[in-house]
Amino acid sequence: MSEVGPSAPLSLSSQPAPKFLVETFGCQMNVHDSSRMEEALVAHGWVAATGHEDADLIVFNTCSVREKAEQKLRSEIGRLKPLKAQRPDLVIAIAGCVAQQEGDALLARLPHVDLIVGPDNLGELPMLAETIRLGGPPVARTVFDLDAPAFLHAAPKLPGRTTPVSAFVTTMKGCDERCSFCIVPYTRGPERYRPLREIVDECARLVDAGAREIMLLGQTVNSWLPPEDYAALPAAGDGSPAQRLRGDDSAFATLLRAIAREVPALRRLRYASPHPRHVTPDLVAAHADLDVLARHVHLPVQSGSDRMLKRMIRRYRREEYVARAAALKASRPGLTLSTDVIVGFPGETDDDFEQTLSLVREVGFIALFGFKFSPRPYTPALKLADDVPEPLKAERLARLFEEVERQQLAHLASLVGSEVDVLFEGPSSPNEKEGRVTSFAKMMGRSERNEIVHVDVPAGRDGAALVGQLLRVRVARANAHSLGGELDAATALALPPAPSAPSAHAAAAERAPEVRRLQVLGG
Ligand code: SF4
Repeated sequence: MSEVGPSAPLSLSSQPAPKFLVETFGCQMNVHDSSRMEEALVAHGWVAATGHEDADLIVFNTCSVREKAEQKLRSEIGRLKPLKAQRPDLVIAIAGCVAQQEGDALLARLPHVDLIVGPDNLGELPMLAETIRLGGPPVARTVFDLDAPAFLHAAPKLPGRTTPVSAFVTTMKGCDERCSFCIVPYTRGPERYRPLREIVDECARLVDAGAREIMLLGQTVNSWLPPEDYAALPAAGDGSPAQRLRGDDSAFATLLRAIAREVPALRRLRYASPHPRHVTPDLVAAHADLDVLARHVHLPVQSGSDRMLKRMIRRYRREEYVARAAALKASRPGLTLSTDVIVGFPGETDDDFEQTLSLVREVGFIALFGFKFSPRPYTPALKLADDVPEPLKAERLARLFEEVERQQLAHLASLVGSEVDVLFEGPSSPNEKEGRVTSFAKMMGRSERNEIVHVDVPAGRDGAALVGQLLRVRVARANAHSLGGELDAATALALPPAPSAPSAHAAAAERAPEVRRLQVLGG
């Protein structure tokens, strides 16, 4: 049972409601999953805790894509040992990719952990946690829902929940690509798609509850097909029951057009992360036609060398990536790209790396997430020698960042004096929240191309009133990684005076920007 909503609360007793805390590691998919877990718990009578000390259930929603994230998680969980010794009734749960990867081996290794829940079993979290609270034994539940895929539905109007300006909607789960370095196909399973109607309805529900921007999520979000079309494809015959033989085709553009048509109050639509091989002519045409689509695409490339792309099993060549990137850029004036790159993949020579640098120069990116290769369990790349020395990986990464920094600075500088459409998310700095929650001196938002824009608020005016608004802003200056903008005089004057007590807008502003700092994974 995956759907949660106000109609399904379980009131277990006259005891005070139990309290939960969900800690999220990793990508936007995990942020999304954490929100759905919280909603499932609230729907079953739980309330949010303020910290470890008052929580009855602590859930770590985990990421195993990079070794570093996994190490950090292990140390965080280890720190809870004394608390569990003091309060044996505290339930400690591990959810997400590490849970799926390690299964019940984690229970043996971490005896103070009670519950392991894989990504496809998150809807069962409230029931499993309650069973353990009532004295049940530790449980590991990590079963893929291959035959009847279910998606947790957003429940933005539950008591105690607020809808962010920018909300996530999942379109699919799993990944069929099997890039040789990536653990996702093993932790998230094969691809399964959410029906169009469910996705469109969820977008409408979130916008109705206050969201202004929707970010569609999927490991290869643009491989989306209606589930019935995907099921009709022939099986790949490689032993993975739900995997299908398919080309680069996709119906993702149809999905984008349906959302644009049926959710007219939506101000901005983004998606993450697309796979280059599913950048179809239809998708490029959707960018040309739909004003609601952001003028920015995060398109992971991973390497600029055909030899490396082949070893990575990326299923496209450099030339194809460059052509598709160019088609996206040409679809809409000012459309920008960002990307992911792995340096030091097994066998990467100086020449391979130089080809990556040359691709970065040729395509032009406004941002780049770069990673040093680290071998992950179960992946085909484990069989290749991790033969690029660490110092060389670090040097290559630094050169890559230097190049992109140059491109980013030039791009930001080119925007000074122009006007951008900013969707306001919240105060510019978390410090702004301290002690002055009723009037923010500087507010931040995102342009149509995803640049961060900071805007000064006139003295005595309530900056929080800007949250959720889409306004035209003049770019006054370029900072290292963001823009500084000015509101026009009429808009500034129309802002309400700063109230003396916390305003409703201020509450909205408090919740906003944190998700944006997380890395997009997949694609
Ligand atoms: S890198 Fe992306 S496309 Fe490749 S296997 Fe991982 S999630 Fe799938």
